[in-house]
Amino acid sequence: MTADGAVMTGPCCEKDGSSRPLSVVVLGSGAAAMAAVIAATERGAQVHVVERATVGGTCVNVGCVPSKHLVRSAQLQHWCDEHVEISDGCRCDGVPNAHKLHASRQALVERLRWQKYESVLDENPHVTVWHGEASFEDSRTVRVRSLAAQATQTETLLHFDRCLIAVGAEPYIPPIDGLASVPFWTSTEALASDTVPHRLGVVGSSAVALELAQAYARLGSRVTIFARRGLCTRTDPLVGETLMQALLDDDRIRIHCGALVESVQCEDGVFKVTLTTSQAVFMTDALLVASGRRPSTAALNMAAAGVSWHAASGQIPVDTHMRTNVPHIYAAGDCAQMPQLVYVAAAAGTRAAINMTGGEACLDLSLVPWVIFCEPQVAAVGLTEAEAQARGLRTETRTLPITSVPRCIVHGEKFGFLKLVAETPSMRIVGAQAVAAEASDMISTVAVAMRGHLTVADLSGMLLPYLTASEAVKLVAQSFTRDVHQLSCCAG
Ligand SMILES: Cc1cc2nc3c(=O)[nH]c(=O)nc-3n(C[C@H](O)[C@H](O)[C@H](O)COP(=O)(O)OP(=O)(O)OC[C@H]3O[C@@H](n4cnc5c(N)ncnc54)[C@H](O)[C@@H]3O)c2cc1C
Repeated sequence: MTADGAVMTGPCCEKDGSSRPLSVVVLGSGAAAMAAVIAATERGAQVHVVERATVGGTCVNVGCVPSKHLVRSAQLQHWCDEHVEISDGCRCDGVPNAHKLHASRQALVERLRWQKYESVLDENPHVTVWHGEASFEDSRTVRVRSLAAQATQTETLLHFDRCLIAVGAEPYIPPIDGLASVPFWTSTEALASDTVPHRLGVVGSSAVALELAQAYARLGSRVTIFARRGLCTRTDPLVGETLMQALLDDDRIRIHCGALVESVQCEDGVFKVTLTTSQAVFMTDALLVASGRRPSTAALNMAAAGVSWHAASGQIPVDTHMRTNVPHIYAAGDCAQMPQLVYVAAAAGTRAAINMTGGEACLDLSLVPWVIFCEPQVAAVGLTEAEAQARGLRTETRTLPITSVPRCIVHGEKFGFLKLVAETPSMRIVGAQAVAAEASDMISTVAVAMRGHLTVADLSGMLLPYLTASEAVKLVAQSFTRDVHQLSCCAG
């Protein structure tokens, strides 16, 4: 058995006892698919990958990689603007060159796509890649239609012993009057742009919406966010309040909460956005729609294979082994019923491959830390205080302002906190939420502690290095029993 609970078996072959390798068809070539391809071929399967667009899927091409590059570029620009005395010495002229930023973002995408996806597929003798759109013919066959752009149109039928659906998700476009006839951006266009609009309207308050909104503001746009409700409404209310304060500290950002966009028009390159709620009208030079992502399952003809899906969300329900309702067809990643995060997709892909090839591996989603890469970052893991109480747990919590964390003080951070939720009387940690420049590191530390079932006392007594973000975890644990303001400098 492996560390992640997988029972490994020998090389796989079909159940008829023949020595032919198991034939696995993988739909998609993103994070879930790639993890599955690697695990399935290691375990002896012959794999056919079907991809209708660019190999690599969302994360490397139009998701995590280019968005974090943009966020980082914008942070550096902001840092130069805020620290002129140092940045002058660093040859920062104060004007971002959007064209150069775009070129360097693209170069990174191409390099990582080759390293992590294309070369891995090319060099594996047990993998065949088919470029085209997949749809089910029946429960044992996938049809691949070659792409319209290809010179000769072909159709190929692939028969499989096992199939993994890993087709990901695409931007959800809300039903707003006029939207379909204007040249709005999704995150894909926002990341492909080599210009910075003077004014940018952002519809939505998803992680993607907030990250791109702040990045564009820091590169010079005047940004207006239209948020249906508030910010980060699914976690502790203090998170949304604190992030709101931090974002609004930049006078290039405006946020309209409770804003329902009624209609959009575009004339001579200027967008006119009308809100239902107040009938207010906003003019903007570009419009980003980032209201979440919907599984790309529409083209798959899943009914032909008997695979069930949720009509409303488009998601494919799977069990903890990534099995759909059809025993030899699996699903993983953004198209399946699981959080739309790349590390979840990859973990699900690996486990699906193990299970498809005769092993036994289950995906435990009880602890999924998540991060929004704004500045300050937002991150959380486990239960909020309200969620814990709704489950009947008795809780004790502490909230440590970042002004009590040495690293945050030295870095001059203005907004943020770390909140720890413990269940009583055991004082086991059941959740944490953070807003801080390095909230992701604080929450990763808490996630490891929760996996080890640690208590507040365990965390209080740990040696965590002085002037790290993780030190905040120890400090907030100590604040359950002591006034942290009275502690010595490095909180022994
Ligand atoms: C802007 C942005 C930023 C993000 N940032 C982060 C982040 O910081 N951290 C994080 O954890 N997650 C982030 N995500 C989410 C993350 O990118 C996804 O969760 C992850 O990439 C999903 O992987 P996947 O394998 O399920 O699907 P994908 O990577 O989307 O792959 C699916 C593939 O299937 C192909 N396909 C679809 N239909 C068919 C068909 N019928 N036939 C053949 N091929 C088909 C698609 O073309 C695609 O290549 C971000 C997403 C976006 C959009």
